[in-house]
Amino acid sequence: MTEPLVVLKDVNKHFGDLHVLQDINLQIGKGEVVVVIGPSGSGKSTLCRTINRLETFESGTITIDGKPLPEEGKELAQLRADVGMVFQSFNLFAHKTILDNVTLGPVKVRGQGKKDAEKRAMELLERVGVAQQAQKYPAQLSGGQQQRVAIARSLAMDPKVMLFDEPTSALDPEMINEVLDVMVGLAKEGMTMVVVTHEMGFARKAANRVVFMADGQIVEEAQPETFFTAPRSDRAKDFLGKIL
Ligand code: ADP
Ligand code: MG
Repeated sequence: MTEPLVVLKDVNKHFGDLHVLQDINLQIGKGEVVVVIGPSGSGKSTLCRTINRLETFESGTITIDGKPLPEEGKELAQLRADVGMVFQSFNLFAHKTILDNVTLGPVKVRGQGKKDAEKRAMELLERVGVAQQAQKYPAQLSGGQQQRVAIARSLAMDPKVMLFDEPTSALDPEMINEVLDVMVGLAKEGMTMVVVTHEMGFARKAANRVVFMADGQIVEEAQPETFFTAPRSDRAKDFLGKIL
């Protein structure tokens, strides 16, 4: 592996009695693309949210680029900018234009000037194929377009790593590929990515590693080809039998 960018050591988290993350050990190298897969309720979203400090955890350590996750304040805002997150439900600001959605973070958190932020935003919107929509509002765009805006918005912060939590599962089938294509492009350009998805095509094309989670644990890790053709654990075999 290249130099590790995200390192989780013995991370444990509970929701009440539920031990949702159990001794999670995971290293993500710079430029590495890790696909996280597993049954519903296994803790995949919680894992992403914990890395982005949207959730707290009780024991263990998480470092990004060698630095532990900050607790609060300015450092936390900085962390959220360094760790981009794209959710299933686009989460754009409904009452702001597409352009404003993309410039808001760079201006408010990164302290960029408005003109510079707009120039860069337009480049990013161009790159994800929605530059024509810059002056519209989110509700005027298709789901696939909104999700591409959400990706552009994250990229505008120049994140060190991008987390994607089932970015295509709320989309109509014909829009899935337009979002996956953008993600494959990012992967090829060397973005460090953690992607929760059941899209095997994406995993095969773009992932360096598949991490299989079940019941709050990492059960298995392998290269995509190996994982999909020769899973080792019964849990993984069972899961793949259901989705393939
Ligand atoms: P996945 O993304 O793999 O489907 P999640 O991380 O969303 O799994 O959830 C893992 C488990 O934690 C599930 O049993 C879920 O019900 C529970 N859970 C998730 N968020 C919360 C929360 N905020 N409070 C209590 N339980 C939660
Ligand atoms: Mg989830």
